[in-house]
Parts: sequence; C-alpha cells; structure tokens
Amino acid sequence: MALAEPYTKTTEIGEGALEKAHRYMSEEMSGLKGLAVCDKNTEYIAEKAFPDLERYAFEAGTHAYGDLGDGLASYITDNGIGYAVAVGSGSVTDLTRYAAHAAKKPFISYPTAASVDGFVSSVAAMTIKARKTTLPSTPPVALFADPAAYMTAPRRLTVSGVCDILGKYISIFDWQAAHYLLGEKLNDEIIDLERRAVEKVLSLDPASDDFTTAVMEGLVMTGMAIQYHGSSRPASGAEHHLSHLWEMRLINGEIDALHGEQVGVSTLIVLDRYKKALCGDIAEEYEHPQFTREFLEPVYGPITDGIIEENTPDPLSELTKERISAAQPDIRRLIEALPDVGWLRGYMLALGCKTRLSEIELPDTAEFAAKSLKYAPFVRRRITLLKILRAEN
Ligand SMILES: [Zn+2]
Repeated sequence: MALAEPYTKTTEIGEGALEKAHRYMSEEMSGLKGLAVCDKNTEYIAEKAFPDLERYAFEAGTHAYGDLGDGLASYITDNGIGYAVAVGSGSVTDLTRYAAHAAKKPFISYPTAASVDGFVSSVAAMTIKARKTTLPSTPPVALFADPAAYMTAPRRLTVSGVCDILGKYISIFDWQAAHYLLGEKLNDEIIDLERRAVEKVLSLDPASDDFTTAVMEGLVMTGMAIQYHGSSRPASGAEHHLSHLWEMRLINGEIDALHGEQVGVSTLIVLDRYKKALCGDIAEEYEHPQFTREFLEPVYGPITDGIIEENTPDPLSELTKERISAAQPDIRRLIEALPDVGWLRGYMLALGCKTRLSEIELPDTAEFAAKSLKYAPFVRRRITLLKILRAEN
C-alpha cells in the first residue's frame, strides 16, 4: 500500500533549517500574525530564533494539561494569531498542536530536543481530568529542526528520544499481533519506515557528531508513521500503555522521568514478558479480560468510568481460543524475531539510558511490574498481546 501525501509537506532537519523556517514563514505565512509558543526553559531559543514573533511562555517543564491548552487556544483566537510556532520539546508541541487545532490555525514545529516522536504526529497526547489521553489533532504544516536548537538540549533528552524509538520494537509487534489475532489492517510501508528509523539510530556510534541528528531524523520518521496512519497505532503499543499508566499517578506517586525514559524501562519489561510467552501456550492460558468495575476500580479509582467507556464495546469480543491457536505460530515467530532482552538492555546501558524502575522513581519490585503489566492494557482500547496474556499476580 502506498503512503498517502503527508499533511506536513516540509520537513527540514539539519544545518540551515532555521533560515529555511524564516523563508517559509515569509512566503507561506505572509501577512499573518505569528506566535512563538515555548516554556521558560526554551524561551531564550524562541527569542533568538524568532525575535519578530510575539511569545507565549508556559512554566518551565510544563505538562500538556488540557486547561493549559484551552488557555492557549483562547489566546490565539482572542489576539488574532494567524499561526503558531512550537519552540520546545514534547509538551510544548502537544499544547501548541492541541490549541492550534482547537483555534483552527496552522502551526510549525521547531523542536528544541531530539526527545520524543510527537513533533510531526497527528495526535495530541494530553492530560485531561487526570486521564492521559490521545486526541485526534492536526499535524504541523512544516517542521524545521535546526541543530542550533536541538544540539543544545541536555544529553538526557536525546537519550530519552532514543528510548522512544526503541519502543517501536514492541509497538510494531503489537500491531502485527493484532493483525494475526483479529485481522487489524497493517501497512507494510509504515512498518518499514519505523524499522528504518530504529536501524538509523542503532547503526550510528552514539559518540559521533551525527548521532543527535540521526535521533531527530528517526523521531520525525516515526512521527510521520503516526501521521500516515492517522493514529498512534504504529508507534504506541503495550510499552506506551505502561508509561501512560505511570503518568496517571494511580499506582505510584509523582515521578521525575521523561516520557522516553519511561518508555525505555517499560519496553524492557514488556519485551521480557513477551519472550516468556514463548514458554507457554498463549491460547490455552487465555482468559477473556473482565472490563468490570470490580476489577478496574481498585486501580483506576475515580476514572474507572472513563476506562470502562474506553473499552466499550469490548475490543476482544470476537477473540476465541481457536483464533489465538490459529494465530499462534505467527505470533511466536514475531516474538522470536524481537531483540534479545539482554542485548537491548546492554545497548541501553552503554548509551546511558535508564533501564530499571527505581531509576525512574518507581518501586523496583516484581509486584509493581506485575501490577503495571496487569492494568496498563486497559488505558487504551487498542489490542496488544499484553491484553490477552494471562496476568501474573
Ligand atoms: Zn512515545
């Protein structure tokens, strides 16, 4: 299946991207009032890169909360803003995308760190009423990633971006598993695009000058995969569901961890669980998950209704042991093709990634990991292998 024409027609990564941004703005946005959206950490970059634009700065290290996005949308509308430029990393980009979409104005992505794959994506990852949710939104009309901005980011952010890319091992696998289990439609070109993003990063020496640019390119490729598909399906599977659960602060307190750091740790946990599935019979062990209040409420508490709603109608209603049996040879083949857990952990450790729960301020216990694996699949309706594996208590 050929890929459709992307919404984001201009993506410039590397030296000279800022000049190209200025040219683009003077040609495509002429006569419109532009707004540079940033946070206190990236405001100096916005000021330097776009001195002629009005600025809107969130608190340093802001999160993408719905009410903050609503405030920005009102500002855009009330002040006659014609387009916005997101000058920041993940949260600033999500807030800008959400607000620009609500105000029906275009936005340009100007990432300040190679930290997440959301810069060109078509969905906004927002926290609304304590629930982490992914809303259909509008991608940027253009992305300009200039090393003058993203090379100044702390190494921790780049390493986090690598982990967001490594998570694609699981998200691609879960998509393929859903195909074999329930006939979900795949797109081989999108999967190929994501695989090339992973290989691009793995093929480069992390100490080389080109590495951060390769990470940015890889993130833009996986973000484009989301855009081509129109949902985060290609780039978000069980590994992101664990991260979302932790971000909801339901089974843990506040944690000081970046999105990619959480995805890195969860990728290792899910990969380990999937490899263990090879030891048993997935069909034989399958028990239909109960999307009941009794099961969900002890963990989901006040947002239980929202979680029940998310899983209604039951995405697994047509799944039977027979269907799992029929899909099992393909699923086992895919699990075998996943990287070895020890190898992946080794790569991540060498790069300086966080690999343990305790390193992202979560309890480093088998119980906590088991609870995460048991409840995370319900944060989204999406089918993952984790959703059908028997939970270990
Ligand atoms: Zn991600």
